[in-house]
Amino acid sequence: MRRTLAQRVRVEVGGTVQGVGFRPFVYRLAHELALSGWVRNTRNGVLIEAEGGVAVVEMFLQKVRTDAPPSASVETMSTTVVPVLDDASFSINQSVESGQRVLVIPPDLATCADCQRELADPHDRRFRYPFLTCTQCGPRYSLLTAIPYERSNTTMARFELCSDCSAEYEREDNRRFHAEPIACRTCGPRLCLWNEQGHEIADGEEAVQRAVSLLEQGLVLAVKGLGGFQLWVDARSQEAVQRLRDRKRRPDKPFALLFPSIDSVRSYCLLSLEEEALLSSPQAPIVLAGKRQDASLADAVAPGNPYLGAMLSATPLHHLLMASLQHPVVATSGNRSEEPIVTDERDAVVRLKGIADVLLVHDRPIARPVDDSVVCVVPGNIQGKDREQGEEPKANIVILRRARGYVPQAIRWSDGLLDGVQSPILAVGGHHKNTVALLTGDRVMLSQHLGDLSTVEADRAFRQAVEDLQRLLQVTPRVIACDLHPDYRSTSFARELAATLSVPLVPVQHHHAHVASCMAEHKLDGDVLGVAWDGAGYGGDGQVWGGEFFIAGYRQFTRCASLTPFRLLGGEAAMREPSRSAAAILWELMGEQMLTQAFPSWRVTHNQREKFAGILKSGIASPWTTSMGRFFDAVASLTGLCHQASFEGQAAMAVQFAAEQEAEASGITVEGYPMDLVSSQSPDTKWLIDWRPMVSAMLEDLRSGHRLEKIAARFHAGLAEATVRVAQAASLPRVVLTGGCFQNRLLLTLVRQRLEKAGFTVYTHARVPPNDGGLSLGQAVVAAHH
Ligand SMILES: [Zn+2]
Ligand SMILES: [Zn+2]
Ligand SMILES: [Zn+2]
Repeated sequence: MRRTLAQRVRVEVGGTVQGVGFRPFVYRLAHELALSGWVRNTRNGVLIEAEGGVAVVEMFLQKVRTDAPPSASVETMSTTVVPVLDDASFSINQSVESGQRVLVIPPDLATCADCQRELADPHDRRFRYPFLTCTQCGPRYSLLTAIPYERSNTTMARFELCSDCSAEYEREDNRRFHAEPIACRTCGPRLCLWNEQGHEIADGEEAVQRAVSLLEQGLVLAVKGLGGFQLWVDARSQEAVQRLRDRKRRPDKPFALLFPSIDSVRSYCLLSLEEEALLSSPQAPIVLAGKRQDASLADAVAPGNPYLGAMLSATPLHHLLMASLQHPVVATSGNRSEEPIVTDERDAVVRLKGIADVLLVHDRPIARPVDDSVVCVVPGNIQGKDREQGEEPKANIVILRRARGYVPQAIRWSDGLLDGVQSPILAVGGHHKNTVALLTGDRVMLSQHLGDLSTVEADRAFRQAVEDLQRLLQVTPRVIACDLHPDYRSTSFARELAATLSVPLVPVQHHHAHVASCMAEHKLDGDVLGVAWDGAGYGGDGQVWGGEFFIAGYRQFTRCASLTPFRLLGGEAAMREPSRSAAAILWELMGEQMLTQAFPSWRVTHNQREKFAGILKSGIASPWTTSMGRFFDAVASLTGLCHQASFEGQAAMAVQFAAEQEAEASGITVEGYPMDLVSSQSPDTKWLIDWRPMVSAMLEDLRSGHRLEKIAARFHAGLAEATVRVAQAASLPRVVLTGGCFQNRLLLTLVRQRLEKAGFTVYTHARVPPNDGGLSLGQAVVAAHH
């Protein structure tokens, strides 16, 4: 059939377009529009040739952009006109260009709307089948064992497709066409309920019902989820939640909640439109949202915390359970504190012994641990191009834990390949909230959140992730990057690997890596002012850094300013006891007088004060620090908000929550406590931010009985104002905010607003965490410029 005015175009589509139902979508679209041609996967995306009337081709190109499946993301599309071929129909071309590796590995995606419908449809052959998936949803990364992404390279390889599933898999117009992990009750994985000894007590539908009823009775249920085990208890039962806390030895750290529906979340949380969209997105992360005053939940879910970590079901199994439960449950990582999430059911019986009462398991193996991701929404800013085009500020997503749904999506850190970059580069991250990264060309692939490398299990997960990246991308690193800290486990691993492979090792200063990671997210070039605030990072000068202002590019940095140093009283012990940082601050402010003066809200006995003063005088085991995290601790302790911390960030959060109450009442208009910018005596640092006037004014307010909320708000505002002064002194137009302290959304918002008001362009994290989970990206790009 020769058409009049026919045109044929070749379209290269880049972005997340593989493993997300993109080819069947293009196929259906082409059929609807009666176009001929083909679509196929390539190394970096999808290639389409489409032929038909000029106007129809135009419409096709438009719809490829606008109507793509929700889990796909079209980043680039380049179109060229090619000679008309007059082929008969449109097809999906299976062959990937020969010799080319497909580098696109799709993330795990929450159950799509079509699959949810089938799950609830008594006439569908997958009615209530807990493992249904399609091209647009289901496990991907968590069951991949090798590339390319096809069934034989997943943990589904052991399940042979039945004839019905096979027919769906083969049919180009079926929504399960080449959906690699599909299965049904006849051919797929099987669900079982085990008692704590690992003996089967029910299977299939009965396992679901029994699990529900045991949970309702207050038991702790371990559920094998998408990327690992979760521990569930009834979130309304104080007794059950407290039991889980006691068993996990986790006294205060907030638990995440799984809700049966978005309506249910709304009745417990105040949700913005952005938060609703994130909850219902294919990534289905845990979203931190403000708790409603009238939310009737066990206090032990998130003690003293005005936010709840909320999520919706991400798998059919979760949907089935929640449909029966119809109330929120605690769904926290299935691990012992500090260990990585458990993935194997036999392992779970051993490692969750004494924590879980029953285990809901199945026989689809999980290839690697992938935790639930955690995100929050902060008021947005105007960055880069948007700013030039006069765009309105929009909400910003901050990823606090990057795992399920987001991993392994690559971060493009430059437009195209840069000359002279030695790649691939392996970056091994830090010690806390570890991730590892592999830079190849203009992309960096980050591993999922692996946790703190302080246990044998975490170390094993770390080594597996390093091997994983190399195996999946089929490369061997030519450069290895690590933290400057000589004693991190990740550093010693990097040293050994570099020696084995005979490749260079590039140690990267901790806060430089933080700044570089944020720069890479926004593809910034040239120098910026990097504000890197966190708990601790090795400075290289024997001090523990953490309240840093750098003038930095990828290649180098200079320390423009830092907090005036104080003692990290007793080293590690100061992390758990905020009162130690308070004592160290007072010591610098007034020396021996801290023993005699009255501090109304500082709950430290005279004996303790004397002990602290003795250590501070000698300086034993108490290195100098500029840590902003410890400075927050000091404020938490002096104000009486927190004296003992059972998890990292607890004290800082207490100060944040107090300040947010004030911010709500009167906007964020309070005047900050004063800080002085003074010239440093040391040749390596230009200025010091002297916090003594701030602490003096705060003590004055505490003595006069001012409200803690206002004091905490003035503290936050003072930090923001000091940042503006450093930025003005540094006189660089672009400012990058990074480091764990910027998980504090009030601090992030305040600092950004004040800087923008003063005319600076501010960049914050949106794709990798501001905390140490983003270090590996920064290390990789710094090493790329070496
Ligand atoms: Zn689906
Ligand atoms: Zn089947
Ligand atoms: Zn850090």
